[in-house]
Amino acid sequence: MTRKKPIIFCDFDGTITNSDNIIAIMKEFAPVEWDSIKNQVLSQEISIKDGVGRMFDLLPSHKKEEITDYIVEHAEIRDGFKEFVTFTKEEEIPLYIVSGGIDFFVEPLLQGLVSKEKIYCNGSDFSGERIAIQWPHPCDGECVNDCGCCKPSIIRKIAEADTYKIVIGDSITDLEAAKMADQVIARDFLVEKCNEHSIPFSTFDTFFDVINIIKKGKVSV
Ligand code: MG
Ligand code: ZN
Repeated sequence: MTRKKPIIFCDFDGTITNSDNIIAIMKEFAPVEWDSIKNQVLSQEISIKDGVGRMFDLLPSHKKEEITDYIVEHAEIRDGFKEFVTFTKEEEIPLYIVSGGIDFFVEPLLQGLVSKEKIYCNGSDFSGERIAIQWPHPCDGECVNDCGCCKPSIIRKIAEADTYKIVIGDSITDLEAAKMADQVIARDFLVEKCNEHSIPFSTFDTFFDVINIIKKGKVSV
């Protein structure tokens, strides 16, 4: 493949799952105000951290179980993910999940597939009246985006000089990570963004595609 040691940094929502779980939760459980907060995030009027915090503040803590059950029942894991996890184990390629999602749905959906210490996502506190999001992985001194869960900061922490960084993602929240990557595997909006920023990438639809791309070990586009 390469003399550098590969490490995979893989997004969760819209990458491992077929769609975005925060959006699914808000659609099902939040009052209408969530929609304007989401639009402010997309138009970059407010940061992702601010937006996600405010959206969950619309939800009562006592719905924890109901919300978790709903996501575990409705979220679809993309085809080939299980096989992909097996592939990374066989090839001894460390697989980290870097996600702007929240622990109470990310961890149950990855249970039995990825161990907790390889999952970087936001936390949650249900002790108050409303759901409070916690941010254990904030931006380091080199990032000013107020990411919430800062993917570039996590990559800087984990990667070493001889790491071959493989970034897999689907959206704007993966762009800064993609800029740092040695290899980008993208779908959906991230494809557009990579084109815009002249970042080379391969596209994928299922994780069987991802396995083939990594086996080839180079960017095919
Ligand atoms: Mg995503
Ligand atoms: Zn950041």
